[in-house]
Amino acid sequence: MAEKACKNCNRIVEDATECPVCKNNDLSDSWSGLVVIYDPEDSQIAEKIGINTPGKYAIRVK
Ligand SMILES: [Zn+2]
Repeated sequence: MAEKACKNCNRIVEDATECPVCKNNDLSDSWSGLVVIYDPEDSQIAEKIGINTPGKYAIRVK
């Protein structure tokens, strides 16, 4: 299974050609770190990387 990361919002995208969150199709194979956000409103990490939708996100996307 190919996991890529959205260059716009860092969302991990599995087997898709566009990001389900922001509809961006600029996905990267080159990412590192993985964080799962369950409750964006109660997560400092989510706030730090600008996430407001629950899901899996990369910490860094090149
Ligand atoms: Zn995105």
